[in-house]
Amino acid sequence: MDYARAALERGLGELGFADHNPMPEPFDDWRMLREDLPRYFAEVAKARAEFPQLNIKLGLECDFIPGQEKWIEELAGMAEWDYLIGSVHYLPDGWDVDNPKNISRHMGGAASSVWHSYWSIYEQCIRSGLFDFVAHPDLPKKFGIRPEGDLLRFYGRSIDALAETGVAFEINTAGLRNHCAEPYPARQFVELAHAAGVPVLINSDAHRPGDVAAGYDQAIALAKSCGYTETLRFTRRKRSTVPLP
Ligand SMILES: [Zn+2]
Repeated sequence: MDYARAALERGLGELGFADHNPMPEPFDDWRMLREDLPRYFAEVAKARAEFPQLNIKLGLECDFIPGQEKWIEELAGMAEWDYLIGSVHYLPDGWDVDNPKNISRHMGGAASSVWHSYWSIYEQCIRSGLFDFVAHPDLPKKFGIRPEGDLLRFYGRSIDALAETGVAFEINTAGLRNHCAEPYPARQFVELAHAAGVPVLINSDAHRPGDVAAGYDQAIALAKSCGYTETLRFTRRKRSTVPLP
C-alpha cells in the first residue's frame, strides 16, 4: 500500500511489483519463500482494488541459476504475471555478487574474474527465453570496484544476445544509491544497446517506498542522450511501447 501511495505522490501512472522469486527450497535470507506467494498475490490484488487510478503490475524478479530453468517455468505458470524479470546475483560457486558481506571477494584484483563469471551467466540468462527483460546489467560494480580498461569486453556478448533474442534491459537507478554512484548499466552499455536496437525500461528497484521513482530524471536523461525515445510496458507478458516522458 505504501508503495502505491508513494507512486501516486510522485505522479506515476503505473507501478510494477517484482519481489524476489522463491526457490524450490529455502535458499537465502533475502527472497520470498514459496509459502509467501499467496500473500504476495493478495497484497498486489489489494493495492489494485484500493488504487484503481494506478496501473499496477504483477511481476517477479527471478534469479537465473543455470540448471534451474524448469523451476522458473513452473513459477511462470503460477500466476497471471505481467512480466518476469531475469536477474543474476549468484555466481557459479554460490555467492551473491551484490551482498555487502561478500565485498572482499571483489577486491585484490578479483574484479576481472568476478565480471567474466557474472557476464557469462548474464548472457545465458538472456538466451534462456524465460524472461521479458533483464535486470541491473552491470550489478558487480555495486561497491565501486570495476576491472581495468574498456568494459566492452564484458558487455559485448550480452548486448548481442539481447539484440538476437529481442529481450529488453532495464536502466536501474539503485546504482545511484550505492557506492558505484551511477545507474546499472553504465552509459557505454546503454549506447551500445541502443545502437543494436535493444528496447529499454526504467526502474527504481525500490526496496522501500521512499525509493519509488528515485533517480528517474537522471535515468530518462541517460536513455534519451543515448538515442532512446520510447520505453516498454508489459501486460500479461505482452509488450507495448510508450514514449519516454
Ligand atoms: Zn536484483
